Amino acid sequence: MSRTVLDFESQSETDQEWMVRETWCDQCKKPDLGIGNPILYIEDGRKYIEGNYLVCDALCISEITATIINE
Ligand SMILES: [Zn+2]
Repeated sequence: MSRTVLDFESQSETDQEWMVRETWCDQCKKPDLGIGNPILYIEDGRKYIEGNYLVCDALCISEITATIINE
């Protein structure tokens, strides 16, 4: 399991916005709550965004299926 961390800040503002917005919180059972301290990374050829929900602070990991990420 190797993880390559990408530079979240180097993504376009539009991409940053949807990546932190389009989320699902298992704990709150609500979508689009938004996450803080986002970390963007690649693991086993898949891209993920990880962060803490702004509402409940639970850890959120979402796979990114769009191909817009600047590596
Ligand atoms: Zn939550």
